Amino acid sequence: MKHKIFAANWKMYKSPADTQKFFQNFLVIPGDSTLIFFPPALCVNHAIEATSSTHIKIGVQNIAATAEGAFTGENSASVAKEMGCQYALIGHSERRSLFQETDAMLNQKAKLAQSLDLHIVFCVGESLDQRKSNQTKSIISEQLSAGLAGLKNENLILAYEPVWAIGTGITASPQQAEQTQKEIIEWLNANGFSGVPVLYGGSVKPENAKELISQPSISGFLVGGASLNPESFAQICQA
Ligand code: PEP
Repeated sequence: MKHKIFAANWKMYKSPADTQKFFQNFLVIPGDSTLIFFPPALCVNHAIEATSSTHIKIGVQNIAATAEGAFTGENSASVAKEMGCQYALIGHSERRSLFQETDAMLNQKAKLAQSLDLHIVFCVGESLDQRKSNQTKSIISEQLSAGLAGLKNENLILAYEPVWAIGTGITASPQQAEQTQKEIIEWLNANGFSGVPVLYGGSVKPENAKELISQPSISGFLVGGASLNPESFAQICQA
């Protein structure tokens, strides 16, 4: 059975008090799945404290591309590491589209994270227009070759997140997800990244998790909305 990874992206939701409450109500399933939470940066400390006696790993949703400097408002990767973060989320479609993060910037962030031994969850995915015009494979190959250039394959996790499925309630069908996940794995194998797990993300819910996770190329999920509720995220992790 493949090792499963379940990652929660809380985006800009939850306060320190909400964070504490969540972990009081989240029943950590025993087992060997990897569980990663990406709380808002201002709640990272509280999440680390609240999960210190569990196997849950905490990550930061965004890091600056540069180690330190005059970058008002940015998150330093080395500070995140010092606080106890083990992961960095890089390339989320909201960072790509709302904050104009380019493949080159994301590559710089990923290299910085690896130089600090932070694990990376690196996101790729096509827009609806790109899917409709049969560009899914080429767009994702471009995101992978530019984003992963010069990276090591250790401590790396990929997440396939079709942009049209994020926060929309529309999930890729298991067949759609499997086809693209398979293409991503083929690209990874051909480019020195074999063995890198590929998660699926995009409106994963307790109701669709079981069918998606049974696809051979899906190693786990990156979950937004449904990870905000301890019961629904626990159900997804048990799918
Ligand atoms: C995400 O933000 O990475 C995500 C997949 O969101 P949602 O599960 O809400 O679609």
